[in-house]
Amino acid sequence: MPERTPASHTAWYAISASEALSCLKSTPHGLDDSEAERRLTEHGPNQLRQEQSRPWWRRLFAQLNNLLIVILILAAIASLGLGHLLDAAAIFGVVTIIALIGFLQEGKAEQAMKSIRDMLSPQANVIRDGRRQVIPAERLVPGDIVIVESGDRVPADLRLVTAHRLRTEEAALTGESAAVDKDIAAVTEETELAERSSMAYAGTIVVQGNAQGLVVETGFHTEIGRISEMLRDVEKLKTPLLRQLDRAGRVLAMFILGAAVLTGIFGIVVHDYAPSAMFMASVGLAVAAIPEGLPAIVTIGLALGVQAMAKRNAIIRRLPAVETLGSISTIFTDKTGTLTRNEMTVQAIWLPEGEIRVEGVGFVPEGDFHWVGEAGAASTLVSADHPTLRHFLKVGVLCNDAELVEEEGHWHIHGDPTEGALVVAAAKTGLQASILRNDHSRHDAIPFESERRYMATLHEVDGKRRLVVKGAPDRLLEMCHKVRIGEKEMELDHAEWESRIHTLSSRGLRVLALAEKDGEAIEDLTDDHAEEGLVLLGLVGLLDPPRDEAIAAVKSCLAAGIRPVMVTGDHAITAQTIARQLGFVNSDLALTGKQIEAMSDAELEDNILKVDVFARAAPEHKLRLVKAMQAKGGVCAMTGDGVNDGPALKRADVGVAMGIQGTEAAKEAAEIVLADDNFATIVSAIEEGRKVYDNIRKTITFLLPTNGGQGLAILLAVLAGTQLPVTPLQALWVNMVVAITLGLALAFEKSEADLMRRAPRNPAAPLLDLFLLWRVTFVSILLLAGVFGIFSWILHGQGGGEEQARAGAVNMLVLGSAAYLINSRFLFNSTLSVAGIFGSRPVWIAIGLVMTLQLAWTYLPFMQVVFGSDSLSLVQWSMILAAATTLFLLVELEKWVLRNKNAHHMKASENIDHETKDGATKAS
Ligand code: ADP
Ligand code: MG
Repeated sequence: MPERTPASHTAWYAISASEALSCLKSTPHGLDDSEAERRLTEHGPNQLRQEQSRPWWRRLFAQLNNLLIVILILAAIASLGLGHLLDAAAIFGVVTIIALIGFLQEGKAEQAMKSIRDMLSPQANVIRDGRRQVIPAERLVPGDIVIVESGDRVPADLRLVTAHRLRTEEAALTGESAAVDKDIAAVTEETELAERSSMAYAGTIVVQGNAQGLVVETGFHTEIGRISEMLRDVEKLKTPLLRQLDRAGRVLAMFILGAAVLTGIFGIVVHDYAPSAMFMASVGLAVAAIPEGLPAIVTIGLALGVQAMAKRNAIIRRLPAVETLGSISTIFTDKTGTLTRNEMTVQAIWLPEGEIRVEGVGFVPEGDFHWVGEAGAASTLVSADHPTLRHFLKVGVLCNDAELVEEEGHWHIHGDPTEGALVVAAAKTGLQASILRNDHSRHDAIPFESERRYMATLHEVDGKRRLVVKGAPDRLLEMCHKVRIGEKEMELDHAEWESRIHTLSSRGLRVLALAEKDGEAIEDLTDDHAEEGLVLLGLVGLLDPPRDEAIAAVKSCLAAGIRPVMVTGDHAITAQTIARQLGFVNSDLALTGKQIEAMSDAELEDNILKVDVFARAAPEHKLRLVKAMQAKGGVCAMTGDGVNDGPALKRADVGVAMGIQGTEAAKEAAEIVLADDNFATIVSAIEEGRKVYDNIRKTITFLLPTNGGQGLAILLAVLAGTQLPVTPLQALWVNMVVAITLGLALAFEKSEADLMRRAPRNPAAPLLDLFLLWRVTFVSILLLAGVFGIFSWILHGQGGGEEQARAGAVNMLVLGSAAYLINSRFLFNSTLSVAGIFGSRPVWIAIGLVMTLQLAWTYLPFMQVVFGSDSLSLVQWSMILAAATTLFLLVELEKWVLRNKNAHHMKASENIDHETKDGATKAS
């Protein structure tokens, strides 16, 4: 046997599976744990080298790639040239601090995103020591036996050992998106990568069937690892919002630069100022007016949002989703397991002989069976060895992959809860799944899939092959022509069974039918075998109660103007009953997948706003629902778990995958993964999304006036030919301290009380709307007035020097901003209350910090030398404080006026609304 070195690429596809096994010293029962451990140290983890996170010095350098910083550096150099040594040094110092802060904040945001990505690292099903185990995919080693099934992402390069109807989609590797068939036969050595049907390659997705494969290559020795050493593209921290902000920032910067240059020229020409003084003034204007802290603060806000969502079990895969979530108007959601608990219990069994009520709750295999008599009649116990019941339960357990296990006194289901419930029901009569499955070995199986809606298996029963099927009852009735009573087979009365399905469904039960037929002639099981000539055995009704949190979440959705819409594979009547229990609005109407198919896109668009329940729906219907809703201007979230949900998840504004039940394929296509599969988590994420957006808006509205106020002050001073109330260096200082203290506080704000009672945000509305521009202008002017007021009051009224007047002006700016920070906690609502003023710890920490910095700036001799500041008197401080308080009150007054105006506005529009609504109901 050739020694296997990393350099020699064995053509695994060209040798047989058993040769491959012996070549890697493995067996179909897998490696043992110690050998796997040894190989892990030898071969290293099964990991594609992550994109090296940028080295620290590159990230630091990237901070300099910023117009403002460039201006500042030029200004520092020019100052040096003009002999202002101190100014130059101070500007350099501040540039360094700004760059460092941006660098640290960005690093923190990147770190936060990375740790959240790690929460999604994939798992693999392996056989080790002959036992099936779930391990992190990065611990796979060559020689491991891996089990893959529909929906999985292949975790390493596998030489197939067994394969059932296996098809994989290899677009990640070959670019070809059509699925390819796989089986275990070796192919020739010359075969192209795309045609090596005996292999399943890492990174490709299983779209059908299942298989066991021998791991032959891991990590960057895999085919995909060789193509690119970086599989998962690293998420960029740029979102539409940030890009919008960048663009706005650039326009603003150019505008400010233009204004600065013109102002400088104006000063030289009109007022005869020295060019060097005007150059410094222009630089000061630019520095004062550009909000350099903003992008970093918004990034931090988004990262905080991602972390908050993760805490509430919503894991963000793509950052822009954080923003989009806030504008969601419709949530298309699965029913089973998302709105309901996915704790299935068999409550009813309907045999040809009559209906049986099954007692007991949960997975504990205890409970009696009763015949349900005529209304009022006493029910009689069904004997545990009633032959038809036993046969029914036996079939239910055979056509089934779930296992019931007892761990420390608790009963659990491994596998699909729907199937688990059948195992529990059988156990209640003493039938044990493991024994039954041993006695009746399984030859072949067609697994359950949402599109097919049934599962079929081929078994040895009493020495003969029998095909047993379980599935959606309406589907199975189409496939059955007879019904079995005892040993006899009778003509099937479709109408009668349909009314039984209806009865069970309208109790909110999930209904399954069981059927069987002779399978003697069948070798390889295909859909054609299962879909005709079946003999019906009976129905089973499963209870899956709504989650309590889901009921509350539906309520809060409706209050927030968000429509929950159920999309389920279940029967329409079951779905409607559950929808009603959950509090859905339009649960009287339901459309089925078939009805959706019969509709044109236009018809579907007409119906999409009226119907809240879509039943017997398959993935392709989900896609059409999303498209129709988007055509109606809706912003929608769509949940999904299966392989084929990908297109609908991608198309939805926010695709949501199930973390527990979901396939790797669905997670890959989604923006968010729910760690708990819970509908309520989507609603929490929306709330967080709204909060993040709200806080970002507040931060922007807060930060800009500081720049506006100082920019205008310098501009007006130069135009009027008077002294600058704030020097360029001082403006730089103010920008810096405000950005690193006050500016960060609002990102930590809790959500406002009415956050989930507002309508969803219009996604087309600009971030900087008219209101926001108005508020920024208004407060800029207030700050401007304060700065000039204090400056001239100290200069003329108090007889202070220019330095003291400037110290007053700078402190006015900072204190005024601090007061306005409290205003900005709520953009519209009043903060004029104890809770409003003192309710936020971050705000007061920030104010405390900024005051400490300002005191140092005002009184430390070293600061006085560098920044030209001067000590202030108590009277002067009181005046500044009074001015800041006045500013606070004026902004509250402005809010009050706006609220009143809006209330009128809203009343007026409500009236119009009522009229149109009435008009609409009359018309319809
Ligand atoms: P849901 O949207 O509720 O998850 P599914 O697509 O899983 O719907 O199920 C649709 C229907 O298929 C169910 O109403 C049930 O009758 C049937 N069904 C569900 N699970 C299984 C299974 N494991 N085997 C056979 N039939 C099933
Ligand atoms: Mg399901």
